[in-house]
Amino acid sequence: LPKVDIKGVSKTYPGDRQAVQALQTVNLSIKTGEFVSIVGPSGCGKSTLLYVVGGFLPAAGEVLVDGKAIAGPGIDRGVVFQEYALFPWLTVRNNILYGLERGGLPADERARITDRLIGVIGLNGFEDRYPRELSGGMKQRVAIARTLACDPSILLLDEPFGALDAQTREVMQDELLRIWLETRKTVLMITHDVSEAVYLSNRICVMSARPGKIVEEFTIDLDRTIP
Ligand code: ADP
Ligand code: ADP
Repeated sequence: LPKVDIKGVSKTYPGDRQAVQALQTVNLSIKTGEFVSIVGPSGCGKSTLLYVVGGFLPAAGEVLVDGKAIAGPGIDRGVVFQEYALFPWLTVRNNILYGLERGGLPADERARITDRLIGVIGLNGFEDRYPRELSGGMKQRVAIARTLACDPSILLLDEPFGALDAQTREVMQDELLRIWLETRKTVLMITHDVSEAVYLSNRICVMSARPGKIVEEFTIDLDRTIP
């Protein structure tokens, strides 16, 4: 049974003058623990596909998770959006804690997880800052930590390292690789960076635009070790 099964997904946006077919019958089956990257030119439908799988956007066709059709967003799928989507009225610590509040964990356990993640993203000393006080890269790292805090079995990542400088990007790529190897999470990641896709994924899907579809797939047969 695939972890995520995308079956014949099509999506048309009603444009101002003419409709835009963002996705045309996309099929993609992802096994448990697989790391799939999606690459392709701007506008080929990568974000649309991710939002459909996240359950944020209705579309034709079907998305199954563990064999069951999704009916909206769910805690099984953690999403890191391109535009961070942090709560501006919450500090770094409380943004990360937010997702844990509903998990039923004791407060000291939630605090422990949050402190560990703040260390992972290299923001020790910034716990009490607000998003407006952070650089773009720092906000992106908080968004990643907030999603990881909820421990979803599926990670949906939209250019998660796009706003980072080269050095921080390498640190965060290795952190994601470590998390993936240790937890066998299923990952679907959009990236513009083909070398990043090769470094991290089992499989790379190439999309093309007008209409958006998967036109090529590569398997990366590498035995990765924890960095
Ligand atoms: P990518 O992530 O690959 O850049 P998107 O999924 O963002 O592609 O967009 C795919 C196509 O759908 C593009 O032509 C884009 O302009 C169009 N599109 C995306 N969002 C909307 C929207 N809300 N309304 C109308 N058209 C949209
Ligand atoms: P990035 O976006 O990858 O964090 P930046 O070039 O924006 O990189 O920032 C580099 C470093 O400068 C950050 O890691 C942080 O230590 C510091 N910094 C940036 N913006 C701020 C800020 N608003 N307040 C405090 N320190 C900052």
